[in-house]
Parts: sequence; C-alpha cells; structure tokens
Amino acid sequence: MAVHAIPPSYAFGSNVFVIVGDRTAVVDAGSEGNSSYTVNKVREALGGRSLDMLILTHAHYDHIGGVPAIVDEFGCTVYAGKDARAIADADSSVTLCDDFDGTPVQVEVEELADGDVIDLGGHRLRVMDTPGHTVGEICLYDEKSSDLFSGDVVFKTGVGRTDLPTGSSADMAWSLRRLANIQINILYPGHGSCCTDGNASVRHAMRIMGMEQ
Ligand SMILES: [Zn+2]
Repeated sequence: MAVHAIPPSYAFGSNVFVIVGDRTAVVDAGSEGNSSYTVNKVREALGGRSLDMLILTHAHYDHIGGVPAIVDEFGCTVYAGKDARAIADADSSVTLCDDFDGTPVQVEVEELADGDVIDLGGHRLRVMDTPGHTVGEICLYDEKSSDLFSGDVVFKTGVGRTDLPTGSSADMAWSLRRLANIQINILYPGHGSCCTDGNASVRHAMRIMGMEQ
C-alpha cells in the first residue's frame, strides 16, 4: 500500500494523489491544462494496475478539470461529497470553470455521505463532510494510518478561502473543530507540500481563522 503525490506541472492545478491498496483510488484530478501530465503520472504510480475510483474533494475547477482525461484513460467511477450535484450539472457558478477558462466537465458523479468508508485494503478512507471552502467539500480520513486528505480545507500552513460561492467562514470553523478532534499524522492537502503533523496544521488554520483552541 502506498500513497503517491503528484504535484501540478504548473500553478493552476491541485495536487493529485494515487492510493494503491488491494483497490486503487485517485484523490482529485488537477486542472485541464495538467491532464496529460497527470494521466502519465497516475499510470506510472499504478504500475500496471487498473484504477477503481476517482474521488473529488470538492467542485472547484483546479481539482476537477482533469476528470475527463482520467476517466477516458482508466474508465473509473467518479465520486464526490455534496458537491457531486454541482459537478455533474457543470454549474460554473460553483465549479468556477469559466473563471479558469476551462472546458466544462461532463461526467456522472456518485455522491458520498458523511461517515461512508471506502475500503481499499491497507487504506480505509472515511468520508468527512468539511464545508467552508465549498458547502460540499469532503476530507478523507485514513482510519488505518490516521492520515488526512484535506483538499482545500487545511494546508500545511494555511486554510482554504471562504469567500468563494457556497463558502462560509462559520462552516469552516465548524469543520476545523471537527478536524481538531481527530489524530492526524500525514496531511495530504489540495495545494502545496504534505507534512507529517496534520494536527499542527489544523491548529495553525484555526489561528488564521481567529478561533480559540
Ligand atoms: Zn478549491
């Protein structure tokens, strides 16, 4: 079992993570402009395995623009949390597709619910609703390793913007409190570097938000 991190090949894409257990998953798809690079890197990380699922942390275009390329190449099912509807409807007011000058993503998306567990064998990813950056954002918590795929909620030394459509600083505060209550070892954020003390990153994010701890 392993997690492979694929940083974007240019500034306007998210990190992409490939999780290889008995089953395989990709977390976030990066942007359209990165997509052929991303597909090659995912194929390399899979080492000949097929891809079972593509899980999107939220609807923003820098995380979903690469979906068509990944689905075309690997034929995987696409999942997201409550942002699933906005993604499936290609709702640019939420995905920000037009702001990114992107091609709308046409794809079917299965909706994951808070508490769902995705068992990859070696990794058990628990879905956590963590609204604030978008209303339907999820984090994925690996119950075996206590590692967290944090999307654009928490970064190594930062917190996700709350001023975009469907964002809310009150929701973000709720989500950060939720994350402060679990042990987090490695943090795999949507942008920037990973780190090994996820709880420190959550505390830092709370300080940025002016929250008591
Ligand atoms: Zn975002």
